[in-house]
Formats: sequence, structure tokens, C-alpha cells
Amino acid sequence: MTRNRKKKLAIRAEAGDGSHARAARLHASVPREILTADIHDRLISAFTAEGWPVENDGFPEGGIWTGWLGPVWSMLTRPGGSDTEADPDDPDYYDLTTVPELTFIAPKSPIANGEAMALTLPGTTPLADVVRAVGEELGRARAAKAGALVTDAQCALCGDRYPAAHLLPATDRDHLALCPFCVFDGDVLSVHPWRLAHLIDDLTDQDVAAPAGWSAVTALLACAAGPDFRERLESGGPVPLPHWFDPGQVWVWLPPDDLPTALECLAPGTSLDTLVSAVEAAHPDLRDRFRAETADTVEWDREEDDGPKTRDYLVEQLWPAAICYAVSAATQLRERPDGRSPWHLLDDGFEEGTLAEYFDELGSTLDADSLGPVLTLSIGVPLIAEALGFDPNSLTGDAG
Ligand SMILES: [Zn+2]
Repeated sequence: MTRNRKKKLAIRAEAGDGSHARAARLHASVPREILTADIHDRLISAFTAEGWPVENDGFPEGGIWTGWLGPVWSMLTRPGGSDTEADPDDPDYYDLTTVPELTFIAPKSPIANGEAMALTLPGTTPLADVVRAVGEELGRARAAKAGALVTDAQCALCGDRYPAAHLLPATDRDHLALCPFCVFDGDVLSVHPWRLAHLIDDLTDQDVAAPAGWSAVTALLACAAGPDFRERLESGGPVPLPHWFDPGQVWVWLPPDDLPTALECLAPGTSLDTLVSAVEAAHPDLRDRFRAETADTVEWDREEDDGPKTRDYLVEQLWPAAICYAVSAATQLRERPDGRSPWHLLDDGFEEGTLAEYFDELGSTLDADSLGPVLTLSIGVPLIAEALGFDPNSLTGDAG
């Protein structure tokens, strides 16, 4: 050991723990700068990691970092600046040791119906706690709004009663307003899916208690859409939401209570991508079961024609939509115990001719006249629901 090394050790031994404590106190007494850019980055990463569909601009506008977290609008600001429009990390306008503030609002466009949720948290709140608090508060806000709904209209096809604003026309005739489970019914003619797409976005942006089934309609339209759907959608109104071009980003509401184990950690809702991953991880045999059941169902068909005996009717492109329907129907049944069971969907809700008309309008590359799409939905949806413990024969949420 060198002399200098010995000397340093001696000095440290003499100083003991006291010097460390003094150094720590000195460090703590210097106010720490907190950057909103860091908080925003970590916020977006945390919600993404938890499976929420997330959008953000990546820069603060008018002094505010904005994020879109599923149905929630997030804002990150720093109180007390001399110019509240300035970048909240600009030391010329803000004291960077002031703790930033997170605000979470739902619905995303609260102007029409007011804020169902307004949660404010210090920007230094641990992110795991932020995600949990936002999820819990969102679930509470939806339940409170859903409990206060007034059903003053009925679906033009099934007659189920809803608030008028929750029924949407799938054609250019506004008086034929439908519930989400009648959109692909055989009695729907002259469909306008891009108009419906904008109406769904308007409704779900403005109403945190919008029917869960509209997520399934969104998923099916987005999964089926062809490459030119974006152009048609963009030319038909306001900027469409990203889920129309990336169905994995569709927000899916989960049943509010008694979730199957596979979905327990995802309440109150999640992205379709996350939902599909969770369902398939818990039930890796779903596709095989679909193929076995489909083979039984279409046995007569295979006997009659001399086609291949091992035809695969599973349309992978529509499989996420089938999962979305299975879960959304269960959610809606649980959330609307006095409404008609959405499982009437399985009687006549997916009609080949109607699907073909939608696919044509969507520029879809899928062949609706083949049996694949209708079988993927009409056999896949109840099969997935049963695997998750939801009873597609149940008439009330309690039996689910
Ligand atoms: Zn209906």
C-alpha cells in the first residue's frame, strides 16, 4: 500500500460516517432540477409497456406536453412560469426545481359532455402508481357515466334500447341508427364504412361511456380494410385516428368485474394488440380448436364438393377482430344488464352479403364470398368467448 493510499484511508476512518451524512445533507439541500421532457418520455413508455394504445407529439406545445393514452388525454405542465406558453424546461421562464404537474382527462374531447375524469398528480409520482391510478380512475369514471345513461332510443334493427347518441348509422340514412352488434347484419344495405368510422371516433372521443361494442366494429373494419382505406378516410373528414390503419391500437373495454385470469391485469381496458397477446398466451390452442370446429361444421360442404379435404377457413387478418368481438360482447353484457344480450350477434350478426359489401367499400383484399371471413367470425367469436369463460348463450351479465 502506498503512503498516499494509507493516508486517505486514515482520513476516512477518522471522519467516520459523519462526513458521509454531511455530504448527503449538503447534496439534498441543493434543489433538484426536474425536466418535464424526461417525465413525459417515461410516462409514454410506462403506458406503452402496460399495453395502452399511446400517441404523443414528442414536443411541448403552448407549454404543455400532450399524450393520448387510450381514451385519456394527458397533460404535463410546470406551474408558475413567467410565460406559460414557453417550453416548461426553459430556465428563462420557469424554475426547473418546481415539481411539474400531470393531469389526466377523459373523455379525450370533453367539450360536449364534460369531464368524466380529471385526475391531477405530481409529476414526481412513481410511474407504476400513475398507470394504476389512471386505470382505476378511468374505470370508475366509465362506471359512473354508464350508470347515469338515459336510454331514449332504440336500434333500428334489433330494437335494443340505448341513448340516442350511442346508436350510429352504417349507411347514408341517419334514421337507420344501429347498435354496434347489428352493423354487419344482413338487413343493412348500402353501407358507408368510412362515414361510420368518423362517427365512431366522434362518439368514443366524446363519451367515456360509449358502448364497448363499437371497439369490435372498429376492429373488424380496420382489420378488413385494404391499402386505399386511409386515402378514402382522410378525404372524408377530420384526421382519422391511427387505429384505422393499425387495428392493434384499438382501445378495448374489458368487463368491469370478474375478469378471467388471462385479462385480470389489463382492467379497465387495453389495446387490441395486448388483448390478442394475452388471450393467445392463455389459450394457445384456440386456432386448432377453431379449425376442428370448423371442419365439423362444414363437413357436409367438403363431402359435396371435391375440393381439398384440409381447407383452412381461418382468416388470420380477421382473427384479432374475432377476439375483440368476444371480449366486447362480454363487456357490453356485463355493463348493460337491462339491455338485450349482444350475443344475438351470433344468430345473424355476420352476414356474408353484408360483409362482402363492406369489404368492397373498404377496398379489402379479402374475399367475403369465400366461407373464411364469415366462419372466422361466426365460429371464432363464440369459441373465443367460451375459452375465456364468457357464456355466449347467456342472456344477462350475471350469467357470464
Ligand atoms: Zn341492434
